[in-house]
Amino acid sequence: MDQSSYDVAIVGGGHNGLASACYLAKAGKKVVVVEALPQVGGMCTSGPLIPEAPNHTINPCALDLMSLRVHPMMIEELELERHGFVQKEMNPGYVYVHPNKDTLVFFRDYEKTADEIARYSTKDAEAYRKLMPVVFAFVDMALPQMRVDPASFNFKAKLASLLALMKNSGRKDEIMALVSSPAYTTIMERFEHPVVRSALCCLLGAAGPITNEATGIYFVLLGFIQKFGLGRAMGGMQTISDALASRLRELGGDILVNEPVAEIVSKNKKVSGIRLKSGKTISAAAVVASIHPKQAFEMVTEGEMDRGALTKVQLAPANAHGGSPIKIDLALSGQVNYHELEEKRGDGLSLRKSVLLIGTEEAVLDNFKCVGRGQVSKHPYMWITAPTAMDPSQAPKGQDVAYLYPVAMPLDPVEGWDAIREQVANQVIDWAAVYMKGLKELEIGRCMEVARDWEKRLNLHNGCVIHIDTCTTRSGGMRPAAGLGGDRLPVEGLFLGGAGIHPGGGVNGMPGRLAAARVKRYLP
Ligand SMILES: Cc1cc2nc3c(=O)[nH]c(=O)nc-3n(C[C@H](O)[C@H](O)[C@H](O)COP(=O)(O)OP(=O)(O)OC[C@H]3O[C@@H](n4cnc5c(N)ncnc54)[C@H](O)[C@@H]3O)c2cc1C
Repeated sequence: MDQSSYDVAIVGGGHNGLASACYLAKAGKKVVVVEALPQVGGMCTSGPLIPEAPNHTINPCALDLMSLRVHPMMIEELELERHGFVQKEMNPGYVYVHPNKDTLVFFRDYEKTADEIARYSTKDAEAYRKLMPVVFAFVDMALPQMRVDPASFNFKAKLASLLALMKNSGRKDEIMALVSSPAYTTIMERFEHPVVRSALCCLLGAAGPITNEATGIYFVLLGFIQKFGLGRAMGGMQTISDALASRLRELGGDILVNEPVAEIVSKNKKVSGIRLKSGKTISAAAVVASIHPKQAFEMVTEGEMDRGALTKVQLAPANAHGGSPIKIDLALSGQVNYHELEEKRGDGLSLRKSVLLIGTEEAVLDNFKCVGRGQVSKHPYMWITAPTAMDPSQAPKGQDVAYLYPVAMPLDPVEGWDAIREQVANQVIDWAAVYMKGLKELEIGRCMEVARDWEKRLNLHNGCVIHIDTCTTRSGGMRPAAGLGGDRLPVEGLFLGGAGIHPGGGVNGMPGRLAAARVKRYLP
């Protein structure tokens, strides 16, 4: 077998592509990962991205390990700790901040979170204590399904979900109401205090527009935080991708970087390999496309992909509400502080390592309304943190990096991003600086990306950070689309293996793991 002939070629060296390759190499397959960019990781990377601050590590995309704590299998199964991955838990993780500087901490412990809510409303604390068992029941039913291949029978997982359902049979109506309603309806129905309502709107809004039907499933976010907590990768997110790459090389797999794939070669509806933009071809019995499903299907040899399947992925929702997060990072010459917020709490709790959720119920609703009209809200609602508080090694001693994540910005603002980019960056920084003291005064340099930048840089349809929107109709075997979430696609030997398949986006490696299992079943 020569160097350009493999059992499996993986298109895309994001963390899912690398995970897929590791699992396949572990099973004895000869694999190659082909990545368009100079470095592996996709949206799971970090590095010195601000020229004026070469010793500040920037995490341009993912930062918080929530998904990976919910699905930690990849870490152990691929021995990533042996390859340099180190995780630390953040506690407290997420902290809501009201404009009047009141704070509400989402502690890992839900009873403690209820006590925190009681600082504002004992009635709401009671409502929280009643709601969370419903959320946990849904998580207990859903989680076993998230961890298995929806294309298989999965008797054990079905039994686990059934047992969770039976255990919570008295809560059936509440669970149905929760998951079938807009998340916002549940918040309004159950809670009264503006701080509590705003805190929940700001938290769940990170999953998408909370007034849409059936967005009650976003409450799993809350369930996950309280069940599994939050973590950070020491050294930055690149350490996860590098650990995967190192494990892959150890297992004998190959990685090509700077090599965009131009075609997934198929003849008579069966793949035979890939053709790179550089002209080189690689033959392979199976191809895992660990990229957005639209890009993957469009890359299949012309005329080979079923037209219906192509249409389904082209029209699958990816930032369908017209909005997306954007990202602004700043390298700082000193450390930011939250003394004012901490003093107002008066309990000695330090918020420096936490993520602050800035906004109100009204701001969250306005942000989502504005994106539909191609506008930037006057009060961008955002999540902000200084990653260097958890891991000082990511900046020179005594200095910080600030990570600003406005959650709902227009995908295509009416004026175009080029016209308003700088103005929006300043608006976001001004707003964040109200809470993050020192942010503006300490700035050395900054970098900013919007969804259209991710689209271009990462070949990512609509710059959708989870490839396909999170909704009940795009989950399990219906992700990315009905008929395309199983273990066979219209072109034999082709498999999807990125965030656009079950169980979805976030850094967790599960889609890659799932794709590898499907390939193993396909290849003898
Ligand atoms: C700003 C931001 C913040 C986020 N925050 C979090 C967070 O805190 N926690 C979390 O868990 N998740 C977060 N996410 C989401 C998470 O990072 C992604 O869902 C996840 O990393 C997707 O991984 P993937 O491997 O499936 O795909 P990707 O990361 O998209 O990887 C796909 C890879 O394929 C490559 N590629 C594309 N086309 C080609 C081609 N033709 N040839 C060769 N290579 C190609 C791309 O360059 C890329 O490297 C965030 C994302 C963003 C953008």
